[in-house]
Amino acid sequence: MTRGRRWYAAALVALLLAGCTHAEERFRPGAADAGDPYVPGAGNGGYDVAGYRLKVRYDPATDRLTGEAAVTATATADLSRFNLDLAGLTVDRVRIDGAPAKHRRDGNELVVTPAHGLPPGRRFTVDVAYGGVPQPLPSGELGSGGFQATPDGAIALGQPESASTWFPVNDHPSDKASYDVAVTVPDGLAALSNGVLRGKTGRDGWTTWTWSERSPMASYLTTLVIGKYRVSTGTHAGRPVVTAVAAELPPDGPAAASVARTGEVADFLADRFGPYPFDAYGGIVVADQRIRYALETQSRPVYGPGFFGAGRPNTTVVAHELAHQWFGDSVSVARWSDIWLNEGFATYAEWLWDEHDGGRTVARNFEIEYAATDWSRPSVDPGRPGMFGDAVYKRGALAVHALRRTVGDDTFFRILRGWAAERRDGTATTADFVAYAERVAGRTLRPLLDAWLIGGTAPALP
Ligand SMILES: [Zn+2]
Repeated sequence: MTRGRRWYAAALVALLLAGCTHAEERFRPGAADAGDPYVPGAGNGGYDVAGYRLKVRYDPATDRLTGEAAVTATATADLSRFNLDLAGLTVDRVRIDGAPAKHRRDGNELVVTPAHGLPPGRRFTVDVAYGGVPQPLPSGELGSGGFQATPDGAIALGQPESASTWFPVNDHPSDKASYDVAVTVPDGLAALSNGVLRGKTGRDGWTTWTWSERSPMASYLTTLVIGKYRVSTGTHAGRPVVTAVAAELPPDGPAAASVARTGEVADFLADRFGPYPFDAYGGIVVADQRIRYALETQSRPVYGPGFFGAGRPNTTVVAHELAHQWFGDSVSVARWSDIWLNEGFATYAEWLWDEHDGGRTVARNFEIEYAATDWSRPSVDPGRPGMFGDAVYKRGALAVHALRRTVGDDTFFRILRGWAAERRDGTATTADFVAYAERVAGRTLRPLLDAWLIGGTAPALP
């Protein structure tokens, strides 16, 4: 029966099509941001990045950057499409596991649609070829962030966002990853980034500097600094050290003298916080006056010139940025409302270092800040405008010292070392810290920390 057969065949095709449609229907677009109200639009949902392999070429004569990014990730949901963050720049080509993928731009998002849905657990690599003249992000309260051209090169850094101005990225600290970065610049310029310098190779008037940071790194902790720098290399505690000072700063001035003490300061902190968490040490001092801050870029902080303008070394800022290697870099915030976990501890490290280095005692700093604090402003969830305010830095440090006075030195430093070890290479929240401190101390600490971190009036001195 021809008709019957045809009907049967048609029904089978319809059934198969319906099955396909049904199978494709379970796939959904990944979220276009990480859901962090402090940074709307930043980060993305539906996948977890394991590593970035970046090849970028930058020509200071034209300000033009060309890049190839290979982003290896694992789907965490049924994904019909997903986003990467990329500010400006032009995308020439996107491939997923070598196959062309559809892509479009939506503001600072790169929307990628694979040929087939990606099920949870599926590992994939997105290759993006892109280029253009990178632009900084709108100025924040700490100065401009993102990629900034300089007369002889460029500086890319900034918190809470900066990475998307020079490569496609899941730009939120909740998705940490390893990085391999090869930067090609004209001969005679330095090209500095995070981690270990794997090599320098020259060809046709250009030099490629290859860096790798194998410990998981939050995207805002990446940096790229290109220009004329005096680069010093060495070894400290069995690990490579690379420091760099802008060539226009004096070779024997306070900036050079300060970063030269990086290993000494790191050792001081390691005695208190536990082993240094990364494979390399370093520091970069830029001369660009637009960089009005220092940032704890992983394994190699970047310091603006203003910290060294007083004519004498400033190791307090070095202690702050190096303390972040434990608090902020190795143990990162899962969301920006908990940024006191970074800044409270880094500020406290300044107090510890100053006391050690012949400056004010911790007790004196505590007294001064206690008297000066506006208790109406909370350390936890300070609001986006208060993200870099005194409540995060100084009140946060007061809370750390109040904890120390309450539990005693022995338990206090066991909490700090244990926390850094247990959460190494991960992320954490304030609630995680309070629970951990209570576990180590064997007592309730939540009311104490609530009073010091978020209470509306001056807490009683412990
Ligand atoms: Zn800081």
